[in-house]
Amino acid sequence: MVAALRQRKVTTPFTGMLKEARSGQDPPCYSYSTYANNALEPHMSRETLDYHYGKHHRAYVDKVNELIVGTEFEDASLEELVAESTGDIFNNAAQVWNHTFFWNCLSPRRQSPGKELNQALESLGGLESFQKQFDKAASALFGSGWTWLVKDTKGAVKIITTADANTPVRDGQVVLLTCDIWEHAYYIDRRNDRAAYLQNFWPLVNWEFVSANLTSG
Ligand code: FE
Repeated sequence: MVAALRQRKVTTPFTGMLKEARSGQDPPCYSYSTYANNALEPHMSRETLDYHYGKHHRAYVDKVNELIVGTEFEDASLEELVAESTGDIFNNAAQVWNHTFFWNCLSPRRQSPGKELNQALESLGGLESFQKQFDKAASALFGSGWTWLVKDTKGAVKIITTADANTPVRDGQVVLLTCDIWEHAYYIDRRNDRAAYLQNFWPLVNWEFVSANLTSG
């Protein structure tokens, strides 16, 4: 399982994230560190990025680093933690993994899905239909969690939701895209309006990253 997870590692060096967090540096998050924190406006504000990335995401990194001290996981990579840990260590490690993947799913540069991805989405009725189904699943998610586009172990593309910190990578599914449905992701910009958050999510999607996940998974 760990090997499988490593194959699905996104462009951010997660293993470095834990060590860098220990040394007090900012975690290397692709979307945040490579452009200004107002780059996703007007769809996602600077304040949301400051809180969501700078405080929430960072808190998970700090917490997992604190929790693994003195345990069998002290020298584990993030992938190993997500694959093998349980309880609070898993919850915090999985949130680090999920958030890092989420930031990679966003881009300030407006994009469209490429040919291969469009073909894969045909099984869900095409791009528009997929987006509607994704929105519906995200809107129906009770409480906090994540909505995903995944390629399952049989190669089928499908939409799933996970509660709290749970992540489909632990089940061997190839993750293509995710949207953070924790209220902390949208409360600053949209208050309780999850639908408005989703509406502003789509213009930010980094389809090139989604395509790369499809072809490499
Ligand atoms: Fe979040």
